[in-house]
Amino acid sequence: MPGKLPTDTPQEPRTGDRQRILILGGTAEARELAGKLVADGHEVTTSLAGRTADPVLPAGEIRIGGFGGAEGLAAYLRENAVSRIIDATHPFARRISENAIRAAAETGIVLEQVVRPRWQKQPGDRWRQVTTLEQAAGLLPSGATVFLALGRQYLDAFLPRVDCRFIIRMVDPPERPLGFFDHALVLGKPASDPAREADLMTAHGITHLVARNSGGPAGYAKIIAARELGLQVIMLERE
Ligand code: NAP
Repeated sequence: MPGKLPTDTPQEPRTGDRQRILILGGTAEARELAGKLVADGHEVTTSLAGRTADPVLPAGEIRIGGFGGAEGLAAYLRENAVSRIIDATHPFARRISENAIRAAAETGIVLEQVVRPRWQKQPGDRWRQVTTLEQAAGLLPSGATVFLALGRQYLDAFLPRVDCRFIIRMVDPPERPLGFFDHALVLGKPASDPAREADLMTAHGITHLVARNSGGPAGYAKIIAARELGLQVIMLERE
């Protein structure tokens, strides 16, 4: 699963140069950046995909929903006279980033990208690093109790593992039954305190954690918790 292309990180705006900026968001970094750029006096719109029912909203204007591919995004950029586009989406959100590259090329607007360094394995970490969900599912031993700290669109690869129990964390309840043979849902966002993540893992008798190597501080507490509990982590890497 390829990650984002390395590009420039956002430049500091020039004082007195009010710009119309589109941030492709949905992350804590995007919210932070919107707050900073609004405070600097820019006209900022953050775009969200609309995946979560009750998102934490950044400063500035918000628009929600897809653009209709790279062409739709390019049309939006032109119609709204956007002068800067910043891709601050999640590192595993590939399609929107690819669309942003194409739309920027088509419109001639320079694309800036917020790049999150991936997490590095630390002493005590018991990681098995994989690049596909199928590899991750295949590595689980029979009888494992597995914490799937993944988005909804990443779960189906684990359905065939009817010999494992899955604990699945989601921000919003699923619209349809997930189809797992044996699973429990944990609704809510990840905790930032490793002790709380460890309590959750212990309470559910977790033996394995499956996570994406997203980088950044927001999801790292679960990785620390797994290290402290000595749990095996199947880490899905960006290619
Ligand atoms: P994706 O697979 O790259 O995008 C799928 C489609 O959703 C895009 O083609 C685009 O539709 C629309 N889209 C995605 N992000 C958008 C945005 N910020 N504004 C408007 N439309 C957007 O993305 P994803 O993995 O589903 O993630 C969706 C959003 O959730 C992203 O904004 C991302 O930052 C956030 N998020 C994702 C994850 C994750 O695990 N993937 C985690 C945390 C937050 P059109 O082609 O119609 O424009």
